[in-house]
Amino acid sequence: MSRVLLIRQTDYEPSGIDSAIGRAFEFFGGGKHFVAPGDKVLLKVNLVAGHKPERRVTTDPSVVESVARLILDCGGHPVIGDSPGIDSFSRAAERAGLMDVARRLGIPCAELDDPVALPPGESFHKIEAARLVRDADVIINLPKMKTHGQMLLTLGVKNLFGCVVGRSKAAWHYNVGLNRECFASLLLDICKGVAPVFTILDGVIGMDGDGPTSGQPFPYGVIAAAEDVLTMDFWLCRMLGVPPEEFPLWRAARQRGLPECELKDDTIAGDFAPDYRFSGVRLPASRSLRLIPRLPFMGPLIERAMTTRPVHIPERCIGCGQCQKVCAAGALTLSGKKLFFDYSRCIRCYCCHEMCPVQAIGFKDSPLVRLGKFIGI
Ligand code: SF4
Ligand code: SF4
Repeated sequence: MSRVLLIRQTDYEPSGIDSAIGRAFEFFGGGKHFVAPGDKVLLKVNLVAGHKPERRVTTDPSVVESVARLILDCGGHPVIGDSPGIDSFSRAAERAGLMDVARRLGIPCAELDDPVALPPGESFHKIEAARLVRDADVIINLPKMKTHGQMLLTLGVKNLFGCVVGRSKAAWHYNVGLNRECFASLLLDICKGVAPVFTILDGVIGMDGDGPTSGQPFPYGVIAAAEDVLTMDFWLCRMLGVPPEEFPLWRAARQRGLPECELKDDTIAGDFAPDYRFSGVRLPASRSLRLIPRLPFMGPLIERAMTTRPVHIPERCIGCGQCQKVCAAGALTLSGKKLFFDYSRCIRCYCCHEMCPVQAIGFKDSPLVRLGKFIGI
């Protein structure tokens, strides 16, 4: 039976983090259950972009350091890795405090690059991920607990999308288009191909609101650990008070008939009861009316009308052009500090919102979405 351990942890004081990480490994059989001497161990962090740890966008360095020390004690060779959406890797890792961890421990902090094929997935047969993902003996997933404009939540499974190299991420967004379930199905295939043996989620202080980069820090006070990352994500979704039907990952898993969709109380252990709910969590302002059945005659026009659109906030814009670079749909034109959207091309991936360094892209509901919110669907 796959189990999820939830540990109450309210700050990043190193001795508390060490004790929580030690407890997480012990519960699942100890570090040697996962790592043999000499193993190359990829620590897949969340380094979506270069933000300081206090912004709570990236996996906290204290969590990464604690896990890396434990791997070293087992005789393994940890490598901290990720592939930021647009930032230079070394600059992002420096700002997020991960280069400091690598220097202190004398271990590599490496960009996930050089794409090679993953095993074919159930829905997607040609997925590529970084060579290090294929070459590592062991992958340990270290996500951050956050809300997410496009996928509602980013937890353990979504973190593995970072194994896809750099700009190929934008290409996948474009290929998958407006369909959230289809993107979630891609995430399921990536998760299966990457096959992390263990996930430890940093939810000590995560993010709510307009995550994954523009929300506010939120004190969830939890470190979650699991061998089955999907079960962990569905438990956290429930504890966040999100009905599973609103979570695209759950819908995609249900379409595949995956047993993880049915949560059983005896699969949760630790400091939180099965009926525990985080209170006061704000979900992203973006919205997709997925509770309306998708019918064959619905074209992209109606799909777009059922989804919140990104909008520019000119008074915040610094004219850096990051949004334009990341938009695989070619829907953005920047002129000075004025940004123009071609909504007929926009696939509502919100990568522009995610990568804007100064939160100059917000959301605006279509009349249909406003109506949907009003009547509660
Ligand atoms: S404009 Fe923004 S939301 Fe629309 S496709 Fe481009 S990056 Fe995605
Ligand atoms: S909207 Fe944001 S990402 Fe785009 S140019 Fe302005 S500041 Fe840069």
